[in-house]
Amino acid sequence: MTAPQQLDAIVIGAGFGGIYMLHRLRNEMGLKVRAFEKGGGIGGTWYFNRYPGAKSDTESFVYRYSFDKDLLQSWNWTSRYLDQPDIERYLNHVVDRHDLRRDIQLDTEITHAVFDEASARWQIRTQAGEQYSSKYLVTALGLLAKSNMPNIPGRDRFAGRLVHTNAWPKDLDITGKRVGVIGTGSTGTQFIIAAAKMAGHLTVFQRSPQYCVPSGNGPVDPAEVEKVKQRYDEIWQQVRQSVVAFGFQESSVPAMSVNDEERQRVFQQIWDAGNGFRFMFGTFCDIATNPEANAAAAAFIRSKIAEIVQDPETARKLTPKDLYAKRPLCNEGYYETYNRDNVSLVSILENPIEAITTAGVLTADGVEHELDVLVFATGFDAVDGNYRSMELRGRGGHHINEAWADGPSSYLGLSAAGFPNMFMILGPNGPFTNLPPSIEAQVEWIAEAIAHTESSGATTMEPTGEAVQGWTRTCDEIAHMTLFPKVESWIFGANVPGKKNTVMFYMAGIGAYRQQLAEVREAGYKGFVFA
Ligand code: FAD
Ligand code: NAP
Repeated sequence: MTAPQQLDAIVIGAGFGGIYMLHRLRNEMGLKVRAFEKGGGIGGTWYFNRYPGAKSDTESFVYRYSFDKDLLQSWNWTSRYLDQPDIERYLNHVVDRHDLRRDIQLDTEITHAVFDEASARWQIRTQAGEQYSSKYLVTALGLLAKSNMPNIPGRDRFAGRLVHTNAWPKDLDITGKRVGVIGTGSTGTQFIIAAAKMAGHLTVFQRSPQYCVPSGNGPVDPAEVEKVKQRYDEIWQQVRQSVVAFGFQESSVPAMSVNDEERQRVFQQIWDAGNGFRFMFGTFCDIATNPEANAAAAAFIRSKIAEIVQDPETARKLTPKDLYAKRPLCNEGYYETYNRDNVSLVSILENPIEAITTAGVLTADGVEHELDVLVFATGFDAVDGNYRSMELRGRGGHHINEAWADGPSSYLGLSAAGFPNMFMILGPNGPFTNLPPSIEAQVEWIAEAIAHTESSGATTMEPTGEAVQGWTRTCDEIAHMTLFPKVESWIFGANVPGKKNTVMFYMAGIGAYRQQLAEVREAGYKGFVFA
């Protein structure tokens, strides 16, 4: 057996997180680093999610890195939101521009990452059996990267194409086909709008109805892009101090502090302007925290469904009754899509799926919905999914599943007790925001922490158990000040059968998060021990 190749740091993942981490550690700090990616290309989310309609719901001008100021000036966009190919192209460009490709090994899944206490190094093994050893390990495994594939009876019997949106085959064309889709989250709704325009017939199998607002997508003219470019310093400063980092100022006005007429005017104004996070956080400051404010926003969206959807029975099935407290959705004409003759809606709450058959989907009413393509838009085993399926072991040979037996935890969303010199990008209890700005905050902090460890002559850096417990408690307390835990969604792990429902995000916003990171660093990495 050949000896493991020795590196200073190993990065797992080549999405927004892994790419920037590699750049920081290799190009800026001069470390010997290698990144591994199980996909066949660069981009993470934006490599795998090629389904029709896949796009960002963060506006184009802030769904990018801020660290490369020249690139901010030279890279253009033509629509308010970026389509999947735009983002994939952008990330590939970043990789080439910073000469990173030679140190990214594609088609390589890391199956084992084990901390060897004797050498104080991470021992890494790929699926093909290659071995590497490094002092630092950065896991940028993605928080929405492990598909959730519900085990519906008969799933493997279907004679047509059965696909998950997170593994959309490049050769699959649904034009003119009979298509079924299970799932109406951000992914499902995007897919439904696009697929309706392509498929012969589209059957939507909906479990929970959704609150969806217009995205306001459309072309952006070059003069507008120029104006943004001139204001970028100011824009990023605002983003970094904001709550959700979406490039708008969150409202400071409580919904019930204004009269009903004014409330409706504000809802209508943002409905017309578009964007889901704007609707939830830019209309009033307490939609996500005050039940009365939340009910007002929900009632407004329900009234829109009644106005838009022509068939009253379809409108009834599409109308949610629960709180408006999942990650907010926005789209281009979601409810309007159900007015098309080639789209039908099956509420599987009322008429459950009995089985998947060779021909399609059999529902409890005895109808077999015949299909050529069945799409699972059923989301992700989010946040900790990819961690748990790896042979990831820290001190004492303990698996991450042991450390996370009561639910995934971390200190600052980026480190775990018992896992020295391991840093997570978008690990559990990281910020709930537009993600590139949070990824940048974490990558920059991790790079500084590694530089500090190196310059102090320490061998290892790791958080104490108390620091992890304290951060976990903080995240729990903050989340329970909001209405989000009262609704079942992936944000708390409720979407995967058998997964423990726990808090998985720091919900106080990016501004507060960055301040926490700065305070810990300035206090000599409070909560960490160096050995
Ligand atoms: P990812 O892009 O998920 O990359 C992680 C990579 O790690 C993957 O390529 C994976 O293959 C690799 N990996 C994991 N485990 C291993 C292993 N063991 N070995 C080797 N490789 C491994 N966020 C927003 O803020 N705004 C949006 O508009 C938005 N839109 C989205 C749309 C879709 C369809 C989806 C699915 C997500 C969206 N997100 C959005 C979230 C998005 O995931 C993040 O914005 C961002 O792309 C995450 O980057 P990342 O590098 O952390 O993770
Ligand atoms: P999701 O929000 O978890 O939605 C999954 C959908 O599948 C839900 O409708 C869910 O129903 C349904 N489902 C799950 N298991 C099912 C089962 N066993 N039977 C029937 N239905 C089932 O996943 P997602 O839509 O992929 O989105 C996840 C996150 O990815 C988003 O919140 C967002 O952060 C990101 N994303 C963003 C965009 C964007 O707009 N830019 C696009 C895609 C994804 P229930 O609601 O009843 O559980």
